[in-house]
Amino acid sequence: MTLERIAVGSTTEGANSAYLVDGRVLVDPGPPVDTAWTHLRDWLEASLEALTDLEYVVCTHWHADHVGLAPRIASAAEATCCLGHVDAPLLGAYRDERARRLERDAAALAAWGVPRPVIEELIDRDTPSPLPETTPVRRLHDGDVLAGLQVLETPGHTRGHIALLADEGVLVGDTVLPTYTPNIGGSDTRTAKTNPLKTYIETLETLEGVLERSTEGSEPRLYPGHGSRCERTRIHDIRTHHERRTERIRGLLEERDSATPWELATDCFGSLGGIHAKFGAGEVAAHLEYLEGAGAVSEVDGGKYTLSAA
Ligand SMILES: [Zn+2]
Repeated sequence: MTLERIAVGSTTEGANSAYLVDGRVLVDPGPPVDTAWTHLRDWLEASLEALTDLEYVVCTHWHADHVGLAPRIASAAEATCCLGHVDAPLLGAYRDERARRLERDAAALAAWGVPRPVIEELIDRDTPSPLPETTPVRRLHDGDVLAGLQVLETPGHTRGHIALLADEGVLVGDTVLPTYTPNIGGSDTRTAKTNPLKTYIETLETLEGVLERSTEGSEPRLYPGHGSRCERTRIHDIRTHHERRTERIRGLLEERDSATPWELATDCFGSLGGIHAKFGAGEVAAHLEYLEGAGAVSEVDGGKYTLSAA
């Protein structure tokens, strides 16, 4: 199996990493901007005998910086566009799902105690991506095999995130990133009130198990959706980061007696605007739900949380 990486585009999260596997599968083609498109297409044309050699365009999750070029490249190459079945509608029915997402985001932000003007600014600034209103998408399930790549469901960062198991290692999308930790809670508001941090930690455990089983011989590597590859130890580092943050949020809640996720987010990260309001409040809400699941905090009136009586 051959695995080639190309850095495409540049968003607030840095350049995206697209991967070409065996000249047949393109993974996470990148954001929907013309410069990224030209760069990617030129590279593919130089790497392949013909663009139509490409059979599948697979996206690890629904975020625009990953699916953005998928409809365009799939159409140009006459390839099948694929996503995990839970995330597939967000590209497949982009226009309708985007409208629903905005409503859902606004409701989640309000439940987290984010002030109305901050919510309004965030929703106003959420401009539509240049994506087709609808795109034919093949829905992938855990265990499916596509041109030698096995699908592994890795929910957490989004509800329907998938990774792909290759001979060389695992293409992990935004499940594990080398230089910062993937947002949990704010990056897919469908996960609100589902204890997404617990889901994500279980995903990391699954991933560790998969790597454990495939360690015969060479050390398997992780190929992330941003940046170049990372080592397996990164999973442990991310888990430690979340353990510390959970403890920090518990400590901040102790000082406040009772607080909303937004109040604790500003204690934790300082003033938050734009997309950072959603990511920050969502991340704190995910930690509070995690603590609630462990019986350490409880939700009281007005979306506030308080420490449970010992
Ligand atoms: Zn993402």
